[in-house]
Amino acid sequence: MNEQEIKEMLERIAALEKKNSSLENKVNILEKQVETVNKFVAAITESQSIETAMNEIESVTKQLTDCDKATFYCYDSSADKFFSHGDYRNWQDARSAEEIKTAFAVQKIHRKEKEAVIPLVTSKGKSLGVIVAEKECGFKKTDFDSFKQGSNMVNTVELALKKEYEHQGRITDELTNLKNRQGLNEYLKNTLCGNLNEEKPVSIVMCDIDHFKAVNDTYGHEAGDTILKGVAAVLGGGTRDGADCAFRMGGEEMVLILNCAPEKAVDITERLREQIENTVHTVMQNDTPAEVKVTVSMGVCDIRPNVNIEVTPDNIREVFDEELTRADRAAYSAKNNGRNQVVVYDPKIYKSYLEDKASELLCGGNTEAIPKIKESIVTCLESKNQDDFYSVTDTLQDYAANNPQSAETADGLISKICRAYGYDVSEQEKPLQQTEKSKIPVQPSAVYEQQDETKLEVKYYNKNEYSGIQNKTYIGTDAKTAYNISRFAEEKGVNFSAKFDGKNSAVTVDGVKNKGFIETVKSMSEWSNKVQIKAAKAREQYQKPSQNTDRGR
Ligand code: GH3
Ligand code: MG
Ligand code: MG
Repeated sequence: MNEQEIKEMLERIAALEKKNSSLENKVNILEKQVETVNKFVAAITESQSIETAMNEIESVTKQLTDCDKATFYCYDSSADKFFSHGDYRNWQDARSAEEIKTAFAVQKIHRKEKEAVIPLVTSKGKSLGVIVAEKECGFKKTDFDSFKQGSNMVNTVELALKKEYEHQGRITDELTNLKNRQGLNEYLKNTLCGNLNEEKPVSIVMCDIDHFKAVNDTYGHEAGDTILKGVAAVLGGGTRDGADCAFRMGGEEMVLILNCAPEKAVDITERLREQIENTVHTVMQNDTPAEVKVTVSMGVCDIRPNVNIEVTPDNIREVFDEELTRADRAAYSAKNNGRNQVVVYDPKIYKSYLEDKASELLCGGNTEAIPKIKESIVTCLESKNQDDFYSVTDTLQDYAANNPQSAETADGLISKICRAYGYDVSEQEKPLQQTEKSKIPVQPSAVYEQQDETKLEVKYYNKNEYSGIQNKTYIGTDAKTAYNISRFAEEKGVNFSAKFDGKNSAVTVDGVKNKGFIETVKSMSEWSNKVQIKAAKAREQYQKPSQNTDRGR
């Protein structure tokens, strides 16, 4: 071998070594990819959770394509919707929705400079969903090569999803779509336990539909089911925050677990109660559609586990059941107090909520003023002086008269304040406190007189003045009705006048050609009478704390 030949041979060896090392590199990369995919397969095969599957596939995508962010949008064929990691119910993203749908349907990677939509297709050609990958420095075509052999991985995702759907089926109540008792057990062990040990605030709400047996008896069991579903939908919608959860405990009893302090929980619960009260359910009654509304009674309590006990998956059920009993007792009080209301196990919390709401309403948007107003409201309501108490409700009445758009809120607050502080004047089955007898006579407070075809006068036989006209404060259902009638007339463009003769107030609606209008006004005044008589009767048997409520007004 001459020198030239030796040189050539050495060069060839060097080239082969180079090639060898580059092949070794490639083998290394492939081995790593196989390892990544195997780890992924193992992780989600072991795990039952869709969360894990989604987390894993996102992390695998990041490693395989070297991208910055990957989000798995999984296709739910039953809802014909895509849902993303951590957000199963409400995924909507108009920006990429079309691209996602297209990549999913044509089963081809949709690549833009910094974003790619990668469909996940099983070996049998079924699309499971897509991964949206983002890469700040831009994608190369070769970045997606490993996904071409990825069907094995996708098959594992399919298996995990199948398992998860079956699992969801087991822990979901078929009728209402809320979680069932088994779902509650899992939630307690997997979520609540950790939250309590981390000392996060948690509240429980017990919810029971009012007079549901009567609803079934009147409209039939099928209609009852429709209504139950409707109520559950409101409750489920109110727990949209992933951490909160709604459960059907059986029958028409539902429980919410809210990850917040009880003050906030009361606010949420009151909102839900009102939403349920205003929901119209359309059901069939003897082959004709009927519109039905129902109400619920709700009990709230916070979870206060004994700080000396560590909460574990083994004792969580016991801890929870004890707390649930308190929420149940509060719901029972809500039933006894007249239904369609929220009662908190610790009444102080409910009072604080009312004081917050009243001060918020009265502060006129000036948030700095809230603490000061609240302080004065608290002082007034807590004092045993009845006039102090009335000064709060009078202020709210004034506010209602001058702010028709918030009148209902103010009225609602007044009834709630009265009830919470034992001064109830509303329609109630059993007043809170039993005290001495009232001197208030039972008498109708509103009487309507049809004067001719187009004229109707509604008289109020008591000493209340109608504040909208007299610009004075009033309290009581009759004056509220007068006020409502005037508002109703105003809204319908009907002439009306109101007068106060020093003794009684009256609203006259005039120029009425519409029979429906007259009927509505009649029913408004009849309602007022009913409530008034009921309240007076109730006062006869049970008087407010210590003294009479007749303030000569
Ligand atoms: P209250 O205001 O005191 O709660 O009165 P209620 O009639 O709701 O109370 P009760 O517990 O006596 O009755 C509950 C009724 O709920 C009994 C049953 O007819 C009805 N119910 C329970 N589960 C279902 C259901 O899945 N579907 C239907 N349609 N009705 C149900
Ligand atoms: Mg019940
Ligand atoms: Mg019930």
